[in-house]
Amino acid sequence: MARECFDGMDDDRVLEGIARVVRRSNEITAELLGYLIEVERRQLHLREACSSMFAFCVERLHLSESAAGKRITAMRTAQRFPLVLEMIASGDIHLTAVNMLAAHLTEENHVEVLARARHRSKREIEVLIAEIAPRPDVASRVMALPQPAPLAAPGEGVGLEVRAPERVARPAVVAPLSPRRYEIRVTVDQETHDKLRQLQDLLAHSGVRDPADIIALAIDRLHEKTLAKKAAIVEKPRAAKRPERRTRDIPAAVERAVWTRDGGQCAFVDRKGRRCSATAFLEFHHVRNWARGAEHDESEIELRCRAHNQTMEWRSCRGQSSAIRRRRYRWSGGGSRGNALPGRDDGVGLSHSTIRARWRSSGFRRRRRIRFTKVDTRKAGAPQLVVRDHRRWTAVTLKREGRRWRQ
Ligand SMILES: [Zn+2]
Repeated sequence: MARECFDGMDDDRVLEGIARVVRRSNEITAELLGYLIEVERRQLHLREACSSMFAFCVERLHLSESAAGKRITAMRTAQRFPLVLEMIASGDIHLTAVNMLAAHLTEENHVEVLARARHRSKREIEVLIAEIAPRPDVASRVMALPQPAPLAAPGEGVGLEVRAPERVARPAVVAPLSPRRYEIRVTVDQETHDKLRQLQDLLAHSGVRDPADIIALAIDRLHEKTLAKKAAIVEKPRAAKRPERRTRDIPAAVERAVWTRDGGQCAFVDRKGRRCSATAFLEFHHVRNWARGAEHDESEIELRCRAHNQTMEWRSCRGQSSAIRRRRYRWSGGGSRGNALPGRDDGVGLSHSTIRARWRSSGFRRRRRIRFTKVDTRKAGAPQLVVRDHRRWTAVTLKREGRRWRQ
């Protein structure tokens, strides 16, 4: 579909459209697996001069190696358990999950396991597998990794540029082994390693020597400290003091209550009552704007992820025009930010009073002096007009039509 087809399409239709395309894509994936089953059954890949189904997928269908491998495993699993094909077609299970579960499905368990794998993420499937096929705990092990080869001095070699081999990346691993047991594998630097060794010696008298126990203790302490800092959750809270003047700082008792009530998760709920699942980058959000007189009260504050906190007014959520997208930026107070241009000329062909009127009509009711405006053209095709008053920044997306800029 060409990009311009989306022009004039309202938000609801975009969301309906994407859901329809995903449904179609799932049905096509199931259909493709059906065809692959038939190709293998009739051995048609041999006729096409391919010795294997994998070669047929890569050389004749031009799939990537990983896509071919994934589809062949799914196809063979679907041959054993036709329910898999139905679930893929209806979007109940994704190809990755089928691949992960393939080795663990049996005649007896497949109906139950597949039902539990419905709409599960990859990480959740790992936990499910740890449950149906638990692995024993791994022993703690601290090992030195090979040093990366030193860079060759210039002039060495035979006139060619000699590059040191890249350090092999060893991604950190947090993998479930069995119910409630996880394997953690990390690479640390010399300093951290030395501290771990020292801690083993220092804690020897209390019988803690296993690196797994030391890591658990360290995580415990850091967790406690971070919760105290981020959510004021402490063992012995101090009595709250009444602030002398109105301030943006939320009292610790309110932060604690809000965090506990919202369970450390973004509290944004969409029109269908589904809650945002974000548990990272959480911020305290005043439901009524603090600047418009809202108090720091538990009932007025919610946890929000940064993306939802910055969206002051998401018109698409209310099914209205999305022409005006506004983002709120925290103003750190004082100093200029970005390439703000002082002065009354907005530089985009709109009068200052027009900007002020549009800005106010999009949510700002109070009269405020607009101090700076600038045009942010980093996003090609969608330059943003950024307006600042004494407290906050607001971005308005504008389209350029000749010399004019329109919302
Ligand atoms: Zn959120």
